[in-house]
Amino acid sequence: MKKLLIRTWGCQMNVYDSARMAEVLAPLGFAPTERAEEADMVILNTCHIREKATEKLFSELGRLRAVKEARAAAGQGMVLAVAGCVAQAEGEEIAARAPYVDIVFGPQTIHRLPEMVARASRAAGLVLETDFPEESKFDHLPEARAPQGVTAFLTVQEGCDKFCAFCVVPYTRGAETSRPAAAVLAEARALVAAGAREIALLGQNVNAYHGEGAGSLARLIAMLAEIPGLARIRYTTSHPRDMSDDLIAAHRDIPQLMPVLHLPVQSGSDRVLAAMNRGHSAADYLRLVEKLRAARPDIAITSDFIVGHPGEEEADHEATLRLVREVGFAGAYSFKYSPRPGTPAARLPRQVPEEVKEARLAELQALLSAQQLAFNRARIGQSFPVLVTGPGRHPGQIAGRSPWLQAVHARADAPPGAILTMTAIAATANSLTCILQDASTRPPERDAA
Ligand code: SF4
Repeated sequence: MKKLLIRTWGCQMNVYDSARMAEVLAPLGFAPTERAEEADMVILNTCHIREKATEKLFSELGRLRAVKEARAAAGQGMVLAVAGCVAQAEGEEIAARAPYVDIVFGPQTIHRLPEMVARASRAAGLVLETDFPEESKFDHLPEARAPQGVTAFLTVQEGCDKFCAFCVVPYTRGAETSRPAAAVLAEARALVAAGAREIALLGQNVNAYHGEGAGSLARLIAMLAEIPGLARIRYTTSHPRDMSDDLIAAHRDIPQLMPVLHLPVQSGSDRVLAAMNRGHSAADYLRLVEKLRAARPDIAITSDFIVGHPGEEEADHEATLRLVREVGFAGAYSFKYSPRPGTPAARLPRQVPEEVKEARLAELQALLSAQQLAFNRARIGQSFPVLVTGPGRHPGQIAGRSPWLQAVHARADAPPGAILTMTAIAATANSLTCILQDASTRPPERDAA
């Protein structure tokens, strides 16, 4: 058996792509390893969202160069490959700065890996595959899915047509495409057959999904909910402009659809939202939240924020804090604006000084953390179904997840995939402590969700 090491940075779609790469290479005799020293092939699956990510890649490549040379000295080969969004955006730069890399390929060509490996082992010189191929990679990936555990990721939509001023995704992942519903349903059944009880549907703009045979994400979710054994469905990442009424209604009507929604807003200032080319106002966002809470009052809303977008004034920052206070988020990711090569915002005047970004980020994160803790504390005394994901840190303890995606730990004895009714007795910002509501471990029936 040959050994394959895949390192993954960035979003869940990269996690999904890495899992598919391993499945594509398994028939060639590649088995996973965590040690570069014994790897016949190393793939670095990269993220291009922030400056730091690219620099991390080059320092990792520097380390792997030494391992590759040591293996060569011992008469052992190593194919070194760079994948993902940095490969897509900066393939030539990688070739120039790291000529010892064998393969550079983008997210849309992972199905061509066997052929790329063959070419790399045959001929000297870089194998570079960063075009957007005619064929969809999904039509050429293995149907059978390797077990992913209790929760599996399933990409249903890729690319983005929104062109937010700060973002590289439209350039690295291409235009929005949606997979046909039949292909998604087939893969979901394969994942459930491989042990998944919960499926997280992925897309850069997943709620823009309009795949053949379903036409909308709400319709696709309703079709997936018919799959026996699939207890929980989630989806990420959504754009406010694509939050349709039927999707909001799905949160009310489909019990398998979990009451959690990741809905990035980025800023609470209309001036900054316009500069970001987000295509909606703060008031639009608040109206959406109101509609969502009318449909599903306990829904957990999480978000993304960027502080220090070019031109952002103190008053804009205050507007963001006001919006955060008004919504009350269950969680959020927040970052300092990072200029990305080739994006319109990187060329904008009035870039915000680093120290101002840091101060604003600290203030925002303090508010968001307090809200996350308050959201978790509000669960204390409540009973709800918990999906067991595996053993806890301590003997006799299980780890699991609430319907609101909170980490749960409790004293119980149940297999991964079981769904138990539990009561929360304590909460921190990152997890809930629960007790079994009743002794009997209920079988993982569908309506147990
Ligand atoms: S919607 Fe998201 S992925 Fe698309 S350009 Fe904007 S930030 Fe990037």
